[in-house]
Amino acid sequence: MDIFCKIINNEIPSYTIYEDEIVKVFLDVNPHAIGHTLIVPKKHYQDFFDIDEKTLTHILKVAKEISNRIKERLNCDGITLAQNNGLGQDVKHYHLHLIPKYYKEEKLSIEEVYNKLK
Ligand SMILES: [Zn+2]
Repeated sequence: MDIFCKIINNEIPSYTIYEDEIVKVFLDVNPHAIGHTLIVPKKHYQDFFDIDEKTLTHILKVAKEISNRIKERLNCDGITLAQNNGLGQDVKHYHLHLIPKYYKEEKLSIEEVYNKLK
């Protein structure tokens, strides 16, 4: 079982900032930037080729809501949505990265980021 299935099953703890019946949204523990967040479907899909359109549409809706939350609470200057498939994909369970961009990045621990975003 991959690490995201384990996180979804609560076998591994996570800094979850949003959850519904379809997705779980949590902080990346090896962030590229402060507030780096992952949106992961609860059902296992390997990648973009595997996932269904209805789930993808829901993921994008959640991405917009969470991006607004990140922008408001972390005052980022931009945000990049990234999603790797096959080569370059670290975990073989579909996940969408939300990576905030800053002109000047504040130094915050993951707990501090979690407290701002949860
Ligand atoms: Zn999985």
